[in-house]
Order: sequence, then C-alpha cells, then structure tokens
Amino acid sequence: MLSPLALICIVIVSCLMSVAILASLLRTAVPGIGRWCVAYALLAAASAWVLLAPAPPGPLVAAGASLVTFAAVLLLVQGTRQFFGLDSVRHMESAALLIVYVALVYFTCVSPNIDAKITLLSVALAYARIAVGTLALRHAPRDGARYPYRFVAAAAYLGALVHVARIAAVAFGLGPKMALVQPSPWNVVFLGLAIVTLPCMSTGMVMLANDRLARRMEQLASVDELTGILMRRAFMAKANALLREASAEGKPLAVAILDIDNFKAINDSFGHAAGDRVLTHIASTVSARLRPCDLFGRLGGEEFAIVFANAKKADAQAWTNQLRLAVAQSPNDGVRCTFSAGVECVGGGDALADVLARADTALYTAKETGRNRVVPAPELDARDLVEPG
Ligand code: GH3
Ligand code: MG
Ligand code: MG
Repeated sequence: MLSPLALICIVIVSCLMSVAILASLLRTAVPGIGRWCVAYALLAAASAWVLLAPAPPGPLVAAGASLVTFAAVLLLVQGTRQFFGLDSVRHMESAALLIVYVALVYFTCVSPNIDAKITLLSVALAYARIAVGTLALRHAPRDGARYPYRFVAAAAYLGALVHVARIAAVAFGLGPKMALVQPSPWNVVFLGLAIVTLPCMSTGMVMLANDRLARRMEQLASVDELTGILMRRAFMAKANALLREASAEGKPLAVAILDIDNFKAINDSFGHAAGDRVLTHIASTVSARLRPCDLFGRLGGEEFAIVFANAKKADAQAWTNQLRLAVAQSPNDGVRCTFSAGVECVGGGDALADVLARADTALYTAKETGRNRVVPAPELDARDLVEPG
C-alpha cells in the first residue's frame, strides 16, 4: 500500500515534471507562465524539505515548508491573473494569506494544534484552486475551443474539493486519522485525488498556453499587420462561410470591392510611410462604420473588400457610397484621398469568385468613368434569384 514517503516523492516528481514542461514554454513569453513555473518549483521544494527533514517534521520545518507553500499558492493565482491580462497582485489577497500564515505559525510553534494547522493550510490550498478555476471559467475567450479552460477549472475545483473535504473531516473529528496514509478506500481516494489534481492543473496550464499560442498564430495568419483588418485568405474563408449561410437561409448578400484612387501618386508625393498611414486611416474609417455582421478585408495593396450581410445590391451601393463620402471628407495628415468601388449581389448558384469578379468589373468602370464613385454591376438575368430587381 502507499506510504507517506512514496506519496511525497510522487508529489515532488510530478511538480518537477510540471516545472520542466512549463519552463519549456517560457520562451513563448505567454504571460503568467513564469509565475506558474516558480509556483510548482516552490511546491516541489516545500515537499522535498518535509521529506528530507528528520521525521516527524519539527515546528520550524513545518512553518518553513508552509511559508514556501503559501508563496506557491499566491504565485499560482497571480500567474493565472497575469495570463488573462489582469493585474496580478491583489493586496487584500496577499494580506489575507499572510494572516492565515501567521495563524498557522501560531498553531505550529506557539500553541501546537494539528487540527487548526491542517485547516489553515487546506484553506489556503483550497482558495488557490477555487481562484484559479474561477478565473479560467470567467475569462475564457468567447470564441473557439473552451475545453482547455474547462479542464483547468475541473482540475482546480476537484483539488479544492479534496481540501474542503479535509477541512470537513477535521471539523468532524476525523482529521488526524485521515491525514495519514492508511489502507482504507476513503484514504486512497482522498490522497489519490490530491496528488492527481496537481499535475492535472499544470497540464491544463500548458493547454491554456498552447491555446494562447494557437490564437496568436491564427491572428498572425489572418489579420493584416498594417491595417488590423482581415487578410485576403481569412477574408475569403469567412466570406465563403457567410455566402453558404445566406444561401441556406435564402437571405441576400452583397459585396463591394474598394480601390484607393491614384494611390501611387500619394506614395510618390508624400512617401511610402504616409501611404501606409492613409491605408490605416481608410481601413479604420470604413471599419468604424460597418455593422458587426459585415465583413471587411484587405485583398492586397490598396484594394479592400466588404461583404454586406443580409443586403441587396441597392443597399450595398448606398452604404458604400456613404463610406466613400466619409473617406473623402476625412483627410489623414492633410493627405486627401478617395476610393472607387464596384458592388454586386450574390445570385443563385454563385460562387464567391463569380460575385467578386463582377464587382471587380464594376470597379473598373468606376475607374474609367472618373474615379471617386461607386458603380453597381449590371443587372443579371433570371440567374439572379436573390436580388429581385
Ligand atoms: P488607380 O486609381 O488606378 O487605382 O491608381 P493607383 O495609383 O491607386 O493604382 P496602382 O496600381 O498604379 O498603384 C498602387 C500603388 O499602391 C502601387 C504600390 O506601390 C502601392 N502600394 C501597395 N501596397 C502598399 C502598401 O502596403 N503601402 C504603401 N504605402 N503603398 C502600397
Ligand atoms: Mg488604386
Ligand atoms: Mg489597385
């Protein structure tokens, strides 16, 4: 059967493995990993201190190991806050943990009381886990996989439950008996869960870091660095999804292709950096005026595209014209610029490429007929099922 020595060894090894895995992610600079890493190293150190001290551990060893454990607890919670972009240090929390620690030292060194000691230590450990689990659930991103966040919360709450059970056991007079490893099923479940939830939490933390990295990569691959709007590939993918959705629901959908007028001349006159600022300005001017359901992307160079959800060609034309006026009336750093646009709606059986090609032809007409205008693509025949007239 399990012995306390073997269990402490398992805790040390699992904490050191957690440190090794979390440390391998330090170079990714995901916030919070540094604190998590130190927290697990401190938990390993506290356990090793107890293991190496002459048995049974004296008051100084117990107080010292508890101090290291409290520091680990604080770092675990602070690291989780840091991961979610919150202020990591909460003075009230640090003060409360300090008070609990001082009480623990009192019941360890001044007026020894094993029940009070176990209760206070369990309160700190349960608090850390509840705080980590709640942060993971509350601040999980709304979009994308929520699995890693739920995993961390489940591991943390399970660990908290173990410590709450320990407090309850002390309260009902079972404390000292169940604190040791006795070959009873209850003890095996109790100690097993306590040991398993620690590496489970660190595994969950690694999942969180991976999720953050995957989101970063997705962001890099889909968002244009200069303008902050979607790049061509991501725009096309989302536009195709909107087109499928509109076809399935029988709703109209329209697109506009925008091209800045004489942009080369802006670059030539004011410099490439000023041209960049004009691109950013136009992108933010347009973005700010679109509905949340619309899609906006940079197709490349000084060419942009918009998908207007649930819109007919006439709507798209009117809205694009408003955008054109907004851009024309808001010079950036004294650089006045305009755009031309072609708009088209989706007809029955249309692929995205067909609609964009017709909008592009309309854009050419806009350029040929003087620029700074919005031109609708010519009406289609009976194939145009969605746009009635
Ligand atoms: P038109 O009205 O016919 O569209 O004329 P234009 O000058 O806007 O079109 P043209 O295709 O001749 O020139 C586009 C210019 O856009 C050329 C290219 O150097 C510039 N450009 C493309 N991407 C960027 C960018 O990211 N930053 C800057 N500053 N310029 C860019
Ligand atoms: Mg142009
Ligand atoms: Mg162009």
